[in-house]
Amino acid sequence: MSKIPVIEIFGPTIQGEGAVIGVKTMFVRTYGCDYRCGWCDSSFTWDGSAKDKVQMMEPEEILNELERLAGNNFDCVTISGGNPALIGEAMGTFIQGLHERGIQAAIETQGSRWQDWFCDVDVLTISPKPPSSGMNTDFEMLDSIMDKLQQGGRSAHSLKVVVFDEADFAYAKSVHKRYPAVPLFLQPGNENVTEEGDISARLLGRLEWLFGLAIADPEMNRARVLPQLHALIWHNKRGK
Ligand code: SF4
Repeated sequence: MSKIPVIEIFGPTIQGEGAVIGVKTMFVRTYGCDYRCGWCDSSFTWDGSAKDKVQMMEPEEILNELERLAGNNFDCVTISGGNPALIGEAMGTFIQGLHERGIQAAIETQGSRWQDWFCDVDVLTISPKPPSSGMNTDFEMLDSIMDKLQQGGRSAHSLKVVVFDEADFAYAKSVHKRYPAVPLFLQPGNENVTEEGDISARLLGRLEWLFGLAIADPEMNRARVLPQLHALIWHNKRGK
């Protein structure tokens, strides 16, 4: 049985982003990312600084650890990274294990790789990275992922774009135009992921700025603008 590189398991907490915002969830964070976003708020998943925390775990071991931490006090598990889409069959087995226990799987990935288990994910968020990240979107790959999801999946999928500036907003618009049938979530970026203390006023200011852009733009009539809810409450604390 192949294993999954896990760097964090925590919860229950409240999902602060995207389509399952507000839902009580456990988090499983996988190690490794094929991107290097300039503003990454989880660079410890790929920059080597927390490599000693990585555990290679079998799907069953992760399920046991979730149960040990939270008993039956959850029925959603969010799998995040890094990029969980770097993991093949073992992730499919893990998702199957969640379903056997009546637990839904929510996953976020940037849309740089396809995995067959995408079609089994209950809530799949594809979050392509805008220009401010310094990364280039492979739109051929993204097109193929969105096509496969449209054709085959039982997965409820949506797009999420984090917006730091007007160029990012223009990118989000182009993504929305390319996949008009897929729900689009916009989220203001957190410009200082190491700031200590209460950052809610700063984040709310950025949310108001993004509201303004969306309100003024007829091409964004169907986009949904959301805060990073958990960051308003728990700020930059990790494991929340
Ligand atoms: Fe960080 Fe996500 Fe970008 Fe990877 S894709 S570098 S985890 S923000």
